[in-house]
Amino acid sequence: MSEADCLFCRIVAGEIPAEIVYETDRTLAFRDVNPQAPTHVLVIPRDHYRDAAALAAADHGLADEVIKAAHAVAQREGVAEAGYRLVFNTGPEAGQTVFHVHGHVIGGRSLRWPPG
Ligand code: 5GP
Ligand code: ZN
Repeated sequence: MSEADCLFCRIVAGEIPAEIVYETDRTLAFRDVNPQAPTHVLVIPRDHYRDAAALAAADHGLADEVIKAAHAVAQREGVAEAGYRLVFNTGPEAGQTVFHVHGHVIGGRSLRWPPG
């Protein structure tokens, strides 16, 4: 399942370069091109779902895999113990700009709450 004009589907296909830090059969994790913290990695399912709600609704365990992959990334990046943020911006008002579901793994510095 992919969309020809989707940026992250094109990264999965290897058509656009990305710094991949972790991968499984069904997930891929790569560094955000515009990092907001020392660790800023995007974790995606290889298949195309527009947002976290669509991924969860598909109900085949892939949402679980994405979250497990996010934690594996945090461990590899050395931020799991200190703490990290896992963010799924969902919809335009939340700031989602790429409509292929992705979890932001953000860490390596003290993060404020609430977000802007
Ligand atoms: P959103 O705003 O949809 O939650 O997050 C999209 C993220 O994708 C942004 O943090 C943005 O910096 C990142 N991004 C956009 N284009 C690219 C790209 O071509 N490569 C990578 N690695 N990240 C990208
Ligand atoms: Zn896609």
